[in-house]
Amino acid sequence: MRRVLPPGVPEPDFDLALQAFAAVVGRQWVFTTEEDRHSYMDPMSVGDPAEHEPSGAVAPQSVEEIQGILKAANQYRIPLWPVSMGKNFAYGTAAPRMRGTMVLDLKRLNRVLEVNAELAYAVVEPGVSFFDLHRHLQGRKLWMSGPSHSWGSVMGNALEHGVGYTLYGVHAEAICGMEVLLANGEIFRTGMGAVDGSREWQTYKQGYGPIWDGAFTQANFGIVTKMGIWLMPEPEGMASVTISLPNEEDLAVLVDTLRPLRLNDTINSTYTIANGVRHVFRVGSRDRLYQGRDHLPKQVIADQLKKQGDGWWSVTFNLFDRPEGLDIRLRVIREAFDRIPGSRMVIERWRQGEPLAAWMRQDVGLGPLGVIDWHGGPGGHTDFGPVMAAVGSRVREVYDLVYRRFVEHGIDCFVGMFGLGSRSIVMVADLIYNKNDEEMTGRARALFRTLTRDAARIGVGIYRAHISFMDDGADMYRHNDHALMRFNERIKDCLDPNGILAPGKQGIWPKSLRTQRSPRGRREP
Ligand code: ADP
Repeated sequence: MRRVLPPGVPEPDFDLALQAFAAVVGRQWVFTTEEDRHSYMDPMSVGDPAEHEPSGAVAPQSVEEIQGILKAANQYRIPLWPVSMGKNFAYGTAAPRMRGTMVLDLKRLNRVLEVNAELAYAVVEPGVSFFDLHRHLQGRKLWMSGPSHSWGSVMGNALEHGVGYTLYGVHAEAICGMEVLLANGEIFRTGMGAVDGSREWQTYKQGYGPIWDGAFTQANFGIVTKMGIWLMPEPEGMASVTISLPNEEDLAVLVDTLRPLRLNDTINSTYTIANGVRHVFRVGSRDRLYQGRDHLPKQVIADQLKKQGDGWWSVTFNLFDRPEGLDIRLRVIREAFDRIPGSRMVIERWRQGEPLAAWMRQDVGLGPLGVIDWHGGPGGHTDFGPVMAAVGSRVREVYDLVYRRFVEHGIDCFVGMFGLGSRSIVMVADLIYNKNDEEMTGRARALFRTLTRDAARIGVGIYRAHISFMDDGADMYRHNDHALMRFNERIKDCLDPNGILAPGKQGIWPKSLRTQRSPRGRREP
């Protein structure tokens, strides 16, 4: 049997570790066959998935079992990659950053520990999926905020800074209170959870002293075993607004019109801007539009948009308020957008008591995943996600740069931009390729790396990265000779001296494995 071992771990030690893991969780929950390993690899990988092939996986059922695994992992220096559901769409699914890392699959810890209707929050374990929480909330008049598709877990998505479409759509900001297992097996609680007998754990984020919840998101400092997440009480009314603008040049005015409305809370949830390429994806399969291997020509896009009756840009957002409040918000928004020539607005409305409709996104589903088969399948997918100040000129500067590079590399520039808070916009420029087409995948890799260098040159960083690009993303955050990374590494070495938790996650490598880091500022694809 072909085996994959963690770097530097002798085979006999690996075998002893597997035996120790089996003693903790039972033999049937330790996975090491080739077939097992493949099920934890990225089916949408941008390049050779073997770069991120795990040595196996282990699936505990309780915190005590994780502690047992940590003990053996420390003893034999086995790196572990914790995942909740392991679906991390576009960013590597369950696969680890470093080949040979063992996946710590937490799906079996899947209880909704509490739903508090009075204070509108839930406490979940890692393996609670969006489907699970949705089912759990039926009939409770509490709404969860899910991403566009419901593939993953509530915890994994929030820890990775995922986004939804309600008042609590910035999921990392909806986290309140965690229980964390450190690499040495010690359990601690953040915020008010550190007060014995507290009933405020999920109600007050600051606690006493430093606020630590954020330090366990996009990080490898601990394993989160419980997490509080704020929910939204069912609103009295809701409206969904889609505004379309005809011309490519309208992006700056769109952003500058949205910003004040978001800053003064007239628009009271996240918004999503979509470009023309994203609109024409609606045809489902690229060959219905164009057969060339280069980027979709502008004329093809323009003709298709005309056929569909779409403008080049659209923005969609939800408003939550009682019906009279919605009337005022909608009037103000309409007045603002009526000033832009050619703008069109479509509104859907709902009031409490009416049945929920699909546009409200209160249902769970997997539909949006279909987009990755754009080239006829089997599709591959990742994205480039620069963070931009919500100012028209800045967004235009970054978008033009991104679009130009996509055209140069012949990858269709499918863009959604998420207005998260009131002051920033995260662009998600999707790279969609046929994953069996080596030449196309190579272009996608080169494109991503070119974009990180271009963006860093104008002072822009990205919000998240696929496991193949975690070092490239970290390299953008280089102020004062990578002082932030040195700080992260000091914490990493202190909390995890044997370097067993998620080596390389977000570019943070433990001392013993720093040679695994991709060269900084590298030029090759
Ligand atoms: P989802 O299935 O919700 O999309 P994943 O389970 O794939 O998300 O998690 C995404 C990433 O978040 C993982 O690759 C891992 O780095 C991190 N992560 C997930 N769950 C935990 C956890 N319980 N503790 C620490 N990190 C986690």
